[in-house]
Amino acid sequence: MMKHFNQFEVNVNEMTATAGPGVGGSVLMLELYKHNLFFPAGHCKGVCIGGYLLQGGYGWNGRKLGIACESVIGIDLVTADGEYVHASESENADLFWAARGAGGGFFGVVVRFHLKLYPLPKYRAIIAHQFYMKHLEDVYSWAYEVGPSIPKAVEFQMLMSNKMAGIFGPGIEAAAPIFADTRDEFEEAMAFMKNSPIKSKALIATPAIDPGIDALYKLVMSHYPENHHYGVDNMWTHAPLDDLMPYIKEIARTLPPAPSHMLWLNWHPGQIQSDMAYSNEDNIYIALYTIWKNAADTSKYGDWAASMMHKMNHMSTGIQLADEGLHKRTAPFLSDANLKKIQQIRADRDPKGLFHEWHSRPEIK
Ligand SMILES: Cc1cc2nc3c(=O)[nH]c(=O)nc-3n(C[C@H](O)[C@H](O)[C@H](O)COP(=O)(O)OP(=O)(O)OC[C@H]3O[C@@H](n4cnc5c(N)ncnc54)[C@H](O)[C@@H]3O)c2cc1C
Repeated sequence: MMKHFNQFEVNVNEMTATAGPGVGGSVLMLELYKHNLFFPAGHCKGVCIGGYLLQGGYGWNGRKLGIACESVIGIDLVTADGEYVHASESENADLFWAARGAGGGFFGVVVRFHLKLYPLPKYRAIIAHQFYMKHLEDVYSWAYEVGPSIPKAVEFQMLMSNKMAGIFGPGIEAAAPIFADTRDEFEEAMAFMKNSPIKSKALIATPAIDPGIDALYKLVMSHYPENHHYGVDNMWTHAPLDDLMPYIKEIARTLPPAPSHMLWLNWHPGQIQSDMAYSNEDNIYIALYTIWKNAADTSKYGDWAASMMHKMNHMSTGIQLADEGLHKRTAPFLSDANLKKIQQIRADRDPKGLFHEWHSRPEIK
């Protein structure tokens, strides 16, 4: 519906941009690179900033720059009563608060985002280690142990699938994209991969290379093909590894064919800096993506992600709205206090319920 709102303008001197919700995150990013600028845009092509920023936004260099909606400095929107308004910290602050985290449950139509930009990090690279599934226990034990000390300039993630790197058998790809501002920060960011005690078990261990942002997007997109059916669900957790491990093994045993996969994202957040609706995150993010080509296979694969997450629910501290399956399984996606507050703002701003809420949500206590 909003795909034609795809214009954007970059103010190089002010280091700001305005962009319509239909602007692809990757489109914006490629333009920013030309100006030596940066924004924590999402990892995939095709995803527009509208839904991405409303739900939070886990993007490139997100551990260092924060969740992407923290870099939204204002929005222009049409409210439920048809008014066209600007919202920021100082104007319509309730709408601005709600828009950063409400996701698909927002009660207004955003027509323009005002964004804060950053200098393009000078030292950029990715290091990848690929392991066959027989090393599963070693790989997750190592990742769990080093996770808390991995520098913020690294968005460390692991992808388990039945076709590692798209060509090998079942395995785990451990990837460390790095966006560092100084040489020292870069060296520090690389160290945990360079000195990994399990590196010798890797089928392939690449050096640090900078393929360029476009190639990074292509690499990520090889895991998210178009014209497929998707079943997704996720959880945040800080559960002990001993508790997680039996379920990781079950996921490896039952994982549907590639490109279906499990993502393990090492987040380990600091304190959320901004006062906004977005409020739910934890040390580790686990997401399951079941991806299949033929509609006839929906009965076979459609419920796998939600049912696995259901089994792991006792270790979950909530979900993020990006990869959720709220139509199949509900779970907290905002703190209790923020859910309560957003519903009060909704009652005030959209009393007739013009806008739909989320597919489901936990009861407000
Ligand atoms: C292949 C793929 C990769 C992804 N990678 C990432 C990632 O790296 N990081 C991450 O955080 N997320 C990621 N996501 C999740 C993605 O951010 C969400 O699905 C997001 O909602 C997509 O936004 P959209 O505007 O493209 O989609 P839409 O389907 O257009 O929007 C989703 C919902 O957001 C609301 N919305 C959108 N625009 C507006 C608007 N202008 N005003 C009011 N409400 C609006 C609507 O409720 C709409 O139904 C990925 C998704 C996919 C499919």
